[in-house]
Amino acid sequence: MAEPSANLLRGAPIAAAIRASVSDALKQHGVVPHLVNVIVGGDETSLSYLGAIDKLAGKLGLLSSRHVLPADADEDAIVAAVEGLGADPGVHGLMIQFPLPRGVDARRVARAVPPLKDVDGLTIESLGACFSGETRHTAPATAAAVIELLLSEPACDPAGKEVCVIGRSLVVGRPVAAMLASSAQGGNATVSMCHRGTADTPAHARRADILVVAAGVKHLVQRDWVKPGAVVVDVGTHAEPTDTGWTVSGDVHPDVAEVAGWLTPVPGGVGPVTNAVLMRHVAAAALPDVFEPAW
Ligand code: NAD
Repeated sequence: MAEPSANLLRGAPIAAAIRASVSDALKQHGVVPHLVNVIVGGDETSLSYLGAIDKLAGKLGLLSSRHVLPADADEDAIVAAVEGLGADPGVHGLMIQFPLPRGVDARRVARAVPPLKDVDGLTIESLGACFSGETRHTAPATAAAVIELLLSEPACDPAGKEVCVIGRSLVVGRPVAAMLASSAQGGNATVSMCHRGTADTPAHARRADILVVAAGVKHLVQRDWVKPGAVVVDVGTHAEPTDTGWTVSGDVHPDVAEVAGWLTPVPGGVGPVTNAVLMRHVAAAALPDVFEPAW
């Protein structure tokens, strides 16, 4: 078996720089932006994620709180709660924890978030801005984090490259593909997007100089899907309990490190940058004139 040779494209230094810029700006302006996470019921994964967000927010000078609805709350009740929080001038950023209970129309709930408080790119307005190349702080945070990672390392600059995105969700695959193809958002790449209906995803992946994987399938991408020397960004997050705690793996098989030129680790790649970008989005919602568009 070959030795891992890929350089690691780590999230820590990028996340640290974003966190410092947020915390400095908030100190300077004496503002404490408030993020509210709407959660219906709440599984263990959501609660542990929100715990990390609350802690990070506190460290940077933001407030992150939860609005918890009972697990059997119906669609009208969820929409009414989101509208109420949206109208509250003390709330700067609003996020909804998905998935919502079966039968609830997630798009209707998303539409209830006021666009200027939409810090994770859920609304039609935010997605429209993202897809039309406007550099606002309301792009889906994970998609924005992928762009931050690629632009942080000259060898990973997408301009002029063949990029393959695996996944077409509205939170990651589609917005990141649009940003990568845009000349205004740091991409300027030639992009193909694969999904469950793609006839031969490995063939598309093998052509890519940069492969962005957001499929939600553990270790989907195998060594022979990757062009030697390619940049591989692994968005996937699969947390599993072990005897001693938790283990987290991605959508990319560890053997890919033997052929890729650059690889984002899981954990420690996209995740910390996403959380830092989210904090910047909330801070920008509270101080719109202070935070320049990211790209
Ligand atoms: P999703 O399930 O909404 O979308 C997955 C997409 O992958 C779909 O469009 C589907 O068509 C495509 N897909 C699935 N299997 C495929 C296959 N075999 N070939 C080609 N395409 C395939 O998932 P999502 O919300 O976009 O999340 C994707 C992954 O990213 C998940 O593992 C999620 O946990 C992770 N995630 C990580 C972060 C982070 O900050 N690191 C944030 C959000 C999501």
